[in-house]
Amino acid sequence: MPWQSETDVFEIFPWNRNFETGLEDIDEQHRVLVSILNRLAWHFASGSSVLDGLHLLDELLAYASYHFRYEEGVWEKTLGGTEMARNHHDSHQMFFARIQMLRQSKAPQEDVLAELFDYLTRWLAFHILESDRRMALTIKAMKAGKPLEEARERVDSELNGSVSVLVTALLEIYGKLSASTIQLMREKMARHKAEDELQRLQSERLNRALEDQASDHQKQVEFLAYADPLTGLWNRNGITRFIRELLDRGDLKNDSAALVSMDLDNFQEINARFGEETADRMLGLLARRWLDALPPDAALARIGGDEFALLLPDASQVEIRLRALQLTARQPFDLGGGSALVSFTAGIVVFPDNELGHVDEDADILLRQADQTLFRAKQELKGNWLFLDVGEKKADRSRQRLLSDIRKGLEYGQFRLLYQPKVSLRTGEVKGVEALIRWQHPDIGFLSPDGFLPAIEHHPLMVEIGEWVLFEALTQMSMWDSRGIHMNISVNVAAIQLQAPGFAERLRDILGRFPDLDPARLDLEILESATLGELDKVVSIIDDCRRLGVTFSLDDFGTGYSSLSYLKQLPVHALKIDREFVSGVNDTEENYSILRGIIGLSRVFGRELIAEGVETIEQGEILLSLGCEFAQGYAISPPLAREKLADWLAGWKPFPQWAESLTLSQ
Ligand code: C2E
Ligand code: CA
Ligand code: CA
Repeated sequence: MPWQSETDVFEIFPWNRNFETGLEDIDEQHRVLVSILNRLAWHFASGSSVLDGLHLLDELLAYASYHFRYEEGVWEKTLGGTEMARNHHDSHQMFFARIQMLRQSKAPQEDVLAELFDYLTRWLAFHILESDRRMALTIKAMKAGKPLEEARERVDSELNGSVSVLVTALLEIYGKLSASTIQLMREKMARHKAEDELQRLQSERLNRALEDQASDHQKQVEFLAYADPLTGLWNRNGITRFIRELLDRGDLKNDSAALVSMDLDNFQEINARFGEETADRMLGLLARRWLDALPPDAALARIGGDEFALLLPDASQVEIRLRALQLTARQPFDLGGGSALVSFTAGIVVFPDNELGHVDEDADILLRQADQTLFRAKQELKGNWLFLDVGEKKADRSRQRLLSDIRKGLEYGQFRLLYQPKVSLRTGEVKGVEALIRWQHPDIGFLSPDGFLPAIEHHPLMVEIGEWVLFEALTQMSMWDSRGIHMNISVNVAAIQLQAPGFAERLRDILGRFPDLDPARLDLEILESATLGELDKVVSIIDDCRRLGVTFSLDDFGTGYSSLSYLKQLPVHALKIDREFVSGVNDTEENYSILRGIIGLSRVFGRELIAEGVETIEQGEILLSLGCEFAQGYAISPPLAREKLADWLAGWKPFPQWAESLTLSQ
């Protein structure tokens, strides 16, 4: 039984400071009694029968005989022979007798334990709180030099009144505490049991007779698991189940159902005015009225003290229904000794919210969203209702639209690749080109990747786009080949694509469609963040791909947060210094030192180095002087349409300043 393990952490009767007598040994022993009491309480709450009653009673007797002897020994030393000590001894004897009686009782064990539970609670309150503390305080006063009579009087006046108040208060608190905690635990246990039971019933194939019996049983069990005993409404489990069923049905159209979270505005007041019992009765009455005001396909639940949840399969009805609930709640409740009206505040979430359907919806998330909306409503519009923030919904909607536009874009061929040369600043040699995606959106126009890729960073669509890019880049490579332009191409690979199952196999398939191309001419640029996570896994993916012949570069080097030792383990052949480090390099001394530092660091790796974002001649010079020979950037060429590359190649030559630059050996 999985919930049993909570015994250790769960205390129905926590140790109370008022139990302390000030005598450490005695307090220590009293704690044993409190722990026995807790075991009993737990037993009742959990309804489990693992507790061995006889054994427990024996344990109590053993404890009492040891503890009483010890305690009386302490009293004896100072108070020996006094009436007080004799009385105390007598009450200990009574305790013994009582426990002995219970031990010999022929009544059912549960009844015996219930009696014991009650008795121990009172013993704790009266004996320890009242008697033991009195003794301890008297001894303390006497040790401070007071004669017995005076000490007694002093303690009497100190404790009188206060003790009885304390005892009553404690008993009351404990009564409530234990009753409500035990009730709560019972509900929880009932649910667990019922769920286990349901599972059992479902998995067992019984013959027909047994099935009938089972279905009765199942009904009972379901009631316990999914209903709120106070009002007869569903409980949280109940409404959650309805939401799931509704989502699973799968025939819901966009925004067709509504989940409402409601909270009474004035329940505290009613509680204070009429008392708890009456207030609870009022909740029952309210529940009846509300059920009458709702259509049969609605589900109403009480999910907390004065919190309700309402599920309406038809969202267009939600405001009409809430108005009806408001009206009925505002009719006075005759509560005997007065009448009361109820008002409530509500938060509404309408679902399903997107075309992804129920995969993205979840009963718990919906309940949480409704609760959050309720919370906002209580601050802004008490006594009324609010819908889930439209801003959020809109943002979500526009993302959904973007997703479907991207799908269409792929289908209708709206994506293009531009190609940006990578060169040696010193010799002018062209190392290859980087493929950079663009979107010719029919309504918005030309879009750069920052305008649409971030939205799908974690979406499977990214994998589709990535594969399109690979295919397109290789197609271009072979087209250039056929015209005598031999270009290596770098392709950016997103984290989700690299880590998607079977990436290496997909890559092999795609490469397989270009048998004339040497895979070594394809370089995959990956972001450092793409490699984060399980290093072993990423390294093995990269290795699988490298076995196909392709190479890897680490993009945006210097912007990540990985340790160098981590980066060192990545089998990449080149590092691309992020343009952020290049752009401001001739502005301040500091930027210069940073770039020098980054280049210095990269030496540790012994990898090829390339800088991106070189916009000026000076930047190129500085890079060369720091030992970075290869670069990419506007100063060399902006990203080019495929048909522009040949012209650029014909006209390209490095700036003379670069050719003359002295390159430090690496
Ligand atoms: P990135 O990989 O760092 O690409 C370099 C970006 O810097 C490109 O922006 C390029 O146009 C821009 N750039 C080149 N030279 C200069 C320069 O001198 N100065 C400045 N300021 N910028 C320069 P772009 O094309 O907008 O791409 C942005 C990012 O989008 C890329 O950054 C890359 O991370 C991502 N991306 C682009 N195409 C693809 C793709 O096909 N797949 C994936 N997964 N990501 C891509
Ligand atoms: Ca309330
Ligand atoms: Ca890149």
